[in-house]
Amino acid sequence: TQLDLIRNFSIVAHIDHGKSTLADRLIQMTGTVAERDMKAQLLDSMDIERERGITIKANTVRIEYPAKDGKTYILNLIDTPGHVDFAYEVSRSMRAVEGSLLVVDASQGVEAQTLANVYQAIDAGHDIVPVLNKIDLPAADPDRVKENIEDVIGIDASNAIPISAKTGLGIPDVLEAIVTRLPAPKGDANAPLKAMLVDSWYDAYLGVVVMIRIVDGVVKKGDRIKMMQTGAVYGIDKLAVLKPQMVDIAELGPGEIGIFTASIKQVRDTRVGDTVTHEKKPCAEALPGFKPAQPVVFCGLFPVDAADFENLRDAIEKLALNDASFSYEMETSAALGFGFRMGFLGLLHLEVIRDRLEREYDLDLITTAPSVVFKLYMKDGEVRELHNPADMPDLTYIDHIEEPRIKATIMVPDDYLGDILKLCQDRRGIQLNLTYAGTRAMVEYDLPLAEVVFDFYDRLKSVTKGYASFDYQISEYREDNLVKMSIMVNDEPVDALAIMVHRDRAESRGRAMVEKLKELIPRHMFKIPIQAAIGGRVIARETLSAMRKDVTAKCYGGDATRKRKLLDKQKEGKKKMRQFGKVEIPQTAFINALKMD
Ligand code: GDP
Ligand code: MG
Repeated sequence: TQLDLIRNFSIVAHIDHGKSTLADRLIQMTGTVAERDMKAQLLDSMDIERERGITIKANTVRIEYPAKDGKTYILNLIDTPGHVDFAYEVSRSMRAVEGSLLVVDASQGVEAQTLANVYQAIDAGHDIVPVLNKIDLPAADPDRVKENIEDVIGIDASNAIPISAKTGLGIPDVLEAIVTRLPAPKGDANAPLKAMLVDSWYDAYLGVVVMIRIVDGVVKKGDRIKMMQTGAVYGIDKLAVLKPQMVDIAELGPGEIGIFTASIKQVRDTRVGDTVTHEKKPCAEALPGFKPAQPVVFCGLFPVDAADFENLRDAIEKLALNDASFSYEMETSAALGFGFRMGFLGLLHLEVIRDRLEREYDLDLITTAPSVVFKLYMKDGEVRELHNPADMPDLTYIDHIEEPRIKATIMVPDDYLGDILKLCQDRRGIQLNLTYAGTRAMVEYDLPLAEVVFDFYDRLKSVTKGYASFDYQISEYREDNLVKMSIMVNDEPVDALAIMVHRDRAESRGRAMVEKLKELIPRHMFKIPIQAAIGGRVIARETLSAMRKDVTAKCYGGDATRKRKLLDKQKEGKKKMRQFGKVEIPQTAFINALKMD
C-alpha cells in the first residue's frame, strides 16, 4: 500500500468517556464487520473486560475507508487500555502510530487519565484531533469542555469534533479528520526490514501471535526473520491483518500493522519493543527498545484445598504462556502451605489474573495481603528487595528501609476537595500542587505506593461519589520508619496476614485489623484471641467469643427445609475456609481485613 493512503492512530480517553464505543462505530460505519456480527465493545475480547466494561489489552483493527477525495485509505486503529495499571501498554502502542483521537466526554471534561494518556501521545510526537463525545446527553456542554481542553491540556480545541458515539452522530466527520488531519506514516520500502514488535499473545489454535508495525522494508510469508534483542531466528508461517478477525495477506510494507506466527513456543520468547528484521539482510540499527514492565504489587496465591497445588501450578504456567506481565515463584507459608508469590502491575491487574485463574481453571484461591517491594539496606551493606512481609529479617540486622513513592494526579469538583485532601493526608501524602480549571481542582500528591495499592482508588471513588479521577506514576524510593506488623489468631501467628506499616500508624492499623478480623472470622466452639504485634509486643487485641452449640437449634425442629438450607449454607461456607491450627479463617478475610473505612 502507498504510504500516503495509510493512517495509523490510537484513541486516548479517560475511562468511560466512550473510546470503545467510538471504535465500534468506526468499525461499523466502514462495513469492516458485517452488521450481524456487530456486538458492543467489539475490541474488548476478554470476558473480564466485557464484564467490568474496561479495556485491558490494547487491540487493533484495520479499517478500509473510501474518503471524500475519492481514494480508499487504510486506517489502523490501536485501542488502548484506560486504567492506570496498564499505562505501560498505552505507552508502547503509542509508539506504533502517528496520531491520536483525544476523546473527552462533553458532559464531564478532562479527567486524570485523559491527561496522563494525552501526554503519552504528545511525548510520542502524535498529531492530535480532539473529539467531544456524548453530545446527545442533556448535560453536554461542548463549548465549556473545549475551553477546558485548552486550559488543562494546552492544545488547540477550536476545531474539536462534536459527536455521539452512541447515536452515530458526527462519526463521518471523525473518519474524514483521520484522513485530512493526521499524518501519513514515513518509511522506505527498499531499505532492509525494520519492524517494531508491538504486542504478542497466545492463541489456542495458532500458538504465539506477534503484532508488528513495519518501519522500513517489506516482510512476506515464508521469510526468515530475526529478533534483534534475543537473537532468535524464525520462519514466518502466517502473515495477516486484523479486521479485527485475521485475514491473510501476502506482504506488509512500511507504515503497515499486522501479525505473524512463526512456531514461537511462549509469549516470554518475544520482547515487546524488540526490532524484527531479516536474518540474511538485517537493518543496521535496532529501534530504541522499551523497558520491560515491572511488577509493583506482590501477593501470595494459595489453593483453598492444599490438594489443588499442582492444578494451580499448571494454571499459572498456562496463563504465563499468554501473559508476560506478571511474575511468579513458588512460596511456602507456615499457615497456608504451598502456593505462589506473584507480582503484578497494579491491583486491578492482580484481580484480573486471580479471576482468570479461578474462573478459567476452576480453582478456589486465597489471596494474601498485597504488598509493594521494599528495599532493605542491611547493616553489612547488602541491599535486599522484600517482596513478602513474612520474609522480613530481624530489625537488628537492618540499617534502614526504603519504600516506593508515587506522584498522584487527582481531578475533582471543588466541593469534594476537602475530602480528597483528608484522604491523602491520612495516607501519608505530601501535597505538591493545587490548581483550578473552572470548578474542578487538580491536585498533585506525593504518596507512598503502599498506601495506594490497596483500597485507595475505591475510597477515592466513594468519598467523591465517583466524581474524582486519579492517575499516578512511580517517582522514587525513599526512606521511612517502617515496621512489620504480625497478626496472631488464637495465639498463633498467621504469616499470610503480616503487613509492613509506618511506625506512627501501626497502632491504629493494628486496631482496625483486629476489629475487622473479629467480624470476618466466624465464631467457633471456643474463645479466640486476635492480636496485632510488632516485634514481640502486642499493640491491639480483640476476643471473638464462643458460639452456641447448635446452629439449627433456633429452628425448633419444625421447618425441615429451613434447617437443611442452614446446614447447606454452613457447608458452602466451609468450602471457602482454611484451617489455621484449630481456627477456620474464610478465604476473603485476607483481603478484607486490610480495608480501611
Ligand atoms: P471507554 O471506557 O472509554 O471504552 O468507554 P465505553 O465506550 O465503554 O463507554 C462508556 C459508557 O458510555 C457506555 O455505557 C457507553 O454506552 C456510554 N457511551 C459511549 N458513548 C456515548 C455517547 O455518545 N452518548 C451516550 N449517551 N453514552 C455513550
Ligand atoms: Mg473501553
